[in-house]
Amino acid sequence: MERQARPHKPAAAKPRASRARSSVDPRPEAGAPAQPTSAASRKPDDWLSEIAPGTRTKLANLGIASAFDLVLHLPLRYEDETRLVSIHEAPHGQTVLVEGEIVHSEITYRPRRTLVCQIRDSVDSEAGKAGNRGLLHIRFLNFYGSQAKVLAKGVRLRLFGEIRDGFFGAEMVHPKYRVVREGEPLSAALTPVYPTTAGLSQAQLRKCIDRALATCDLTDTLSLSSVPGATVLQKLRLPDFAASVRVLHHPPPDAEPSAFAERSHPAWRRIKFDELLAQQLSMRLNHKRRRDMRAARLAPSRRMAPALLAALPFSLTAAQRKSLAEIIDDLCRPHPMQRLLQGDVGSGKTIVAALAALQAIESGYQVAVMAPTEILAEQHYRKFLLWLAPLGIKVAWLAGNLKKKERQLALAEIAEGTAALAVGTHALFQEHVVFVRLGLAIIDEQHRFGVHQRMALGSNANYAGGKPKLEPHRLMMSATPIPRTLAMTYMADLDVSLIDELPPGRQAIVTKLISEARRDEVIARVHEACRAGRQVYWVCPLIEESEKLQLQTALDTHRVLSQALPDIRVGLIHGRLASDEKAAAMQAFQGNEIQLLVATTVIEVGVDVPNASLMVIEHAERMGLSQLHQLRGRVGRGANPIVQSLCLLLYQKPLGELARERLKIIFENSDGFEIARHDLRLRGPGEFLGARQSGVPLLRFADIERDIDLLDAARDAAGQILEREPAIAERHLTRWLGDKQNYLRV
Ligand code: ADP
Ligand code: MG
Repeated sequence: MERQARPHKPAAAKPRASRARSSVDPRPEAGAPAQPTSAASRKPDDWLSEIAPGTRTKLANLGIASAFDLVLHLPLRYEDETRLVSIHEAPHGQTVLVEGEIVHSEITYRPRRTLVCQIRDSVDSEAGKAGNRGLLHIRFLNFYGSQAKVLAKGVRLRLFGEIRDGFFGAEMVHPKYRVVREGEPLSAALTPVYPTTAGLSQAQLRKCIDRALATCDLTDTLSLSSVPGATVLQKLRLPDFAASVRVLHHPPPDAEPSAFAERSHPAWRRIKFDELLAQQLSMRLNHKRRRDMRAARLAPSRRMAPALLAALPFSLTAAQRKSLAEIIDDLCRPHPMQRLLQGDVGSGKTIVAALAALQAIESGYQVAVMAPTEILAEQHYRKFLLWLAPLGIKVAWLAGNLKKKERQLALAEIAEGTAALAVGTHALFQEHVVFVRLGLAIIDEQHRFGVHQRMALGSNANYAGGKPKLEPHRLMMSATPIPRTLAMTYMADLDVSLIDELPPGRQAIVTKLISEARRDEVIARVHEACRAGRQVYWVCPLIEESEKLQLQTALDTHRVLSQALPDIRVGLIHGRLASDEKAAAMQAFQGNEIQLLVATTVIEVGVDVPNASLMVIEHAERMGLSQLHQLRGRVGRGANPIVQSLCLLLYQKPLGELARERLKIIFENSDGFEIARHDLRLRGPGEFLGARQSGVPLLRFADIERDIDLLDAARDAAGQILEREPAIAERHLTRWLGDKQNYLRV
């Protein structure tokens, strides 16, 4: 169908699954001037640089920077214009092709100028014969005068669109249509619909793609090899690469529409496999590159760690011991550790990190401890000071508000090596902190940093010692559990340790959903808890659009609660406080001078005040799952078994579908992993990982949950190919990642 009356609407606006979103995402370098591709093999067919600059810019917006990118610009969906259905029998809510004659056509002016036509079905159906039921109303709100002329009584139309129940019965709004003669043949094959951008028509795109298909080198990167690649293709019954892309751009007449729509057709599976293979290869190469780097061998701590363990008021859980053993083992090796220490909120990651730090310190190396927020950094500083100072270790604190002199002193201590451990926010470490002997970097709540920062740390944490450059070992900590499929893909270059049990005596936190209308009851409950000697967090609503408004809300809430509860000591903490004010507020809460702490979401991560047993979260419906889980994890940390920790989620009606689902999930689940799995399902991997900003090439075609068999196969094949035929790995990576490979050289 050539004509489309509907004003152009880019496919990218479709709020569909994340897969569809990521497939139209401009990749990181899109929009930037086309960079020279390292591989010569992509050059000869690259006629893209010769086409009109306007078109080129539009293609660049779609992430298309080379002719070959067009080959991999695969349809977002397909339209089935191969079959006519009767108007009466057409399933409502589904896009269908119908045909009929215009029996009435008029322009109406109420409520606004609209072209309305009535179409009588020309496809026979029992109901169609029986009177009115084969009638369809079509409506155009935007139309040209010429269009109104064409759509006159007696004209036969073929219409493609979604039938809905309108006021007058079945109706289509702004359908695609074409004037046809009686008996005009239908399309022979499915029509691909591409992700596109404003001003670039499907027809233009199709032309470019066809040219790419005709000119680009589509040689299979895998089947050329006698072994691993070809074997896996046979085993999975996957077709040749060239055949696959051709089929996806030009489905054959006999194609099964659902196999194309659901991307289960072998051609789709082949492309998804190739994509997953490229990702697995690059992750493995990355891992290997790290293995080739050198790091200091750190002997297990014989003196300091046992001393700290002896001084602790608790003993480590089995899961903590196991994770620690894995870390100790890594640190003994001469190449840099890159380990993610995962454990649910409150599982006790910090002490494990501290014990790892002692291994570096006792071997004469320094340790950097980084946290995403000032509050969390400060809290780490206190903990490490408490644990390490008795062992004679000097801990430097790189607070944001240090006076110039103090700061210089701290930096000098780090540069000279008198400070064995330095704590600060990540931002602070990015500014010229020079270690004399950095052996270990500990990065808390790593999911907050993303991959870019992981890179930045590597280049910032200098190791000046006149010896060959040694990389620091790295320990990342995260309370956002990474579901297995994600770990296998986006995190495949990390080793993972898991603390899968909470310290004994921890209590389940009871979660309640309460409508905003019952706010008074909640305040009464807070009062009661404070009077019983417990402490309470009151988390103010997240107002993403305006930081100012967010601050105002916090101030208002503080005022209202202070007035409502005159006998309670109410404190306030928010992001706009100076860091010493924040620290003072946290300290006062820690010391029980403040009973009720009104807070913005600045307290989301890591804050640890065991006596706090009640948390109120306002407008919980606005918050993300992991945020709610993290916030809730601030309570339930006390050792007193009689105190029941409680999290009250206040919500405001009406609830959107997604918000309702999130609240249901957080209400029903306490296990961080389970919540993370739901979160991944709701948001898709890009959002979940924050990878969009961090530069990790996202999967465009494969769906790691649905295509788990391909993922497993790609993982195996990657290992074999790298071992036996590295040239194939190189060729495959060049095809799929081109110069994006640099992003993976973390
Ligand atoms: P997270 O894993 O969320 O960072 P923390 O390291 O802050 O958790 O630990 C939460 C609390 O549990 C801290 O007060 C910590 O001292 C305490 N803790 C850690 N390990 C144990 C343990 N094995 N037994 C009892 N309490 C522990
Ligand atoms: Mg923590």
